[in-house]
Parts: sequence; C-alpha cells; structure tokens
Amino acid sequence: MPVEAALQRLLDLAAAAPIRDVEEVTLADAEGRVLAADLHASIDLPPWPNSAMDGYALRIADWAGEPLPVSQRIFAGHAPQPLQPGTCARIFTGAPVPEGADCVEMQENAEVLADQRVRFTEELSLGQNIRPQGQETRAGELVLATGTRLGPIELGLAATLGHASLSVVRRVRVAVLSTGDELVEPGLPLGPGQIYNSNRRLLCSWLQRLGCEVVDAGILPDNLEQTRLRLGELRAVDLILSTGGVSVGEADYLGIALREAGELALWKLAIKPGKPLTVGQYNGVPVIGLPGNPASTLVTFGLLTRPYLLRRQGVQDVEPLHFAVPAGFDWPKAGNRREYLRARLEQGQARIYRNQSSGVLRSAAWAEGLVEVLEGSTPRQGDIVQFIPLSELLG
Ligand code: AMP
Ligand code: MG
Repeated sequence: MPVEAALQRLLDLAAAAPIRDVEEVTLADAEGRVLAADLHASIDLPPWPNSAMDGYALRIADWAGEPLPVSQRIFAGHAPQPLQPGTCARIFTGAPVPEGADCVEMQENAEVLADQRVRFTEELSLGQNIRPQGQETRAGELVLATGTRLGPIELGLAATLGHASLSVVRRVRVAVLSTGDELVEPGLPLGPGQIYNSNRRLLCSWLQRLGCEVVDAGILPDNLEQTRLRLGELRAVDLILSTGGVSVGEADYLGIALREAGELALWKLAIKPGKPLTVGQYNGVPVIGLPGNPASTLVTFGLLTRPYLLRRQGVQDVEPLHFAVPAGFDWPKAGNRREYLRARLEQGQARIYRNQSSGVLRSAAWAEGLVEVLEGSTPRQGDIVQFIPLSELLG
C-alpha cells in the first residue's frame, strides 16, 4: 500500500473522527493544544490610534513651516488631552495619538529650539507614523479558526486580544505498549539476548509534544494470554499504540488477540523503513501497531500516526511541511518501496547518513530531516528531492 493511500485510509477510519470533548484552559496551559471554537476578536487592534515612533504629534494644517510649542507630553499607558490648536505634543511609541493630531514626526527630524519650541525639518504627510485603530484586526473578525494548534505565536495573538483562557479539545489519551521478550528498561542490566527498550521513551516523549496524554503501559512479553489481559485493561484510552510483533512472525500475539476480540487489518506499506502496520480495534479502542525497529517506529509514527493523532484533535491540515532540495548524494538502486532517508542540509544540499538501516536510531539523531525517495526512482547528485524537517514532525 502506497504511503499516501495508507494515510488516507487511516484518516478515513471512523476511529479517526475528531474528539468532541472540550475544556477551557488558561493560556499558560494551552501550549500544544488544539482550539475547539473559532476565536473572534472582541476588540479592535490597536484599540485606538497610537504612535509608531518617539517624536511629536501635530496637525499638518497647523504647521506652516514655523516652529510649534509643545503643549503636552504623552507616554504609553496614559490618556492624552485633545491637541491644542497651534501646538504639538511630545509623544512616545505606543502612546495614544491625541484627538486633533493627524501625523507624528519622529524626533530625529525635529529640532528643539532654545525657547523649547520644535522645528520640523522634513515634509509631513497625513497619518505618518500613526498606527490606526483596527489596523491589525477589527472587532468581530475571525482570528484563529477551530482546529488551530496553539503554539507561542497563537497564544501571543490570543493575549493581544485579551483572552485569558481558550476552549480546546481535550487531550487524546494514548497508551504506549512495547512488545518483545527481549526488551529491558534502561537502568537495568542486560541479560543474554536482551536489548534496551528505546521505543517506549521515543514515543512517550513525542506524544507529549503532540499534546497527548500518555498512558505508559510498559513492556508486554511475547505471550498471548498477557497480550489479551493487557489490551483488555486499556479501555479508557483513545488509542493503543504498540511497537513490535507485527511482522506476521510466529510471535505476532497482538495480531492474534486483535483477530479474536476485535478487528485487525495488516497493511503492507510500501515504505522503508517500515513495512508492516497493524490497524485495528480491541473492545472498541483503536489500535495502531508500529514496527519495532526504532527507525521504522520513527518513520511510521511521524508519517502516519502523527497525522492520525492530529486529526483526532480536530486539526484539518495534518500533513507535514516539506520542501524541495537538491540531493547531495547518489541513490543508484531503485526500490519498490518509498524510502525515507535520514538526512541533513549542508550547503543547500541534502546529505544522507551513511547507515540507513531500520535498526539505527543514531541516524535520526544525526539527521535534520527525512529525504523522500520515490518508488522506482534513482536520484543523483543535484536532482531535486523532497525534504521533511524532523522539527516539523516532532512539533
Ligand atoms: P518485531 O517487530 O517485534 O519483530 O521487532 C523488530 C525489531 O525491532 C527487533 O530487532 C526488535 O528487537 C526491535 N524492537 C522491537 N521493539 C523494540 C523497542 N521497544 N525498542 C527497541 N527495539 C525494539
Ligand atoms: Mg518482537
């Protein structure tokens, strides 16, 4: 199954429908959350005309080339008096422009005479250096749409409009299960044939970044009875995300358990690293089973599970940003799966890590992104390839 078909099928599942539960959170708690209602401006921005410069506010008609006396000083945060005709007002950046003034001249173009009057040396134009009321936003305008992910910029924008809290989609609860008899948690000694469980940490941290509530369901041994038991315990989550045990090998207990008590589809993805993906349900809880090799976990989570989780939070535009870059390598062997190479941008070209094996997570730690090599293609040095930044996938 081509990657885009797999993604489309995943997003079309009934089990991908956005979560409807909503909660109100303060701006401080809204980072990484998804807006559950359109945000309209309740005020004009700026709320009143204000000065873009430190300088002098005046009415152009009052100025015939003669110096003007200063009738008031207006600081940011203070309300001005209407401008006295035939005078100017000292004004500072962000301070309200007084009624009657129609331009601000910056102080660099003004000369304060010995008698404290101010001479303007340059031509003045109507409205210069004044930020008009509502220039950025008019009250009532849609500012952030439902489904927007809230980051520092969106939260800053909500704050400029005076919102102290926002209505967001409740967090998606995801249980992370690491399957495999060989797995040991870091910190413990390795026995014969054992390896450290890396996917658990990788996925738990990543899910937190995506605004999910993580239920760490630990390591699941390769055992059917325990698989049934553990899956049965995970009823109060929105997704069970497992790694390993999906290679239709003899130890595919997840697949057996899903077949018994739920729904199972095994997709053979045309993706490398990756390939087998389990998609199903257990007691009505959606299950996604990722391949166990760390680089495969990374690629299938980033390209398929991440968009799925964003969609469940109500995000419309779930596909990662990517851009075209020249290849800084030769890829002479065409494959029948779409390949995602761990790569870096150097001097405007994508350079790839020397070892692209699916078991090697170090490649991704070195990399800044994934280079997409299409099925059947053999890009050469200088050919254009697509680059997906890891910062995009991780954020
Ligand atoms: P599997 O899909 O269970 O056959 O696993 C494929 C490969 O990934 C094997 O080499 C496993 O040892 C490895 N693997 C599976 N789960 C993990 C994990 N949680 N952390 C690190 N490696 C894993
Ligand atoms: Mg296994």
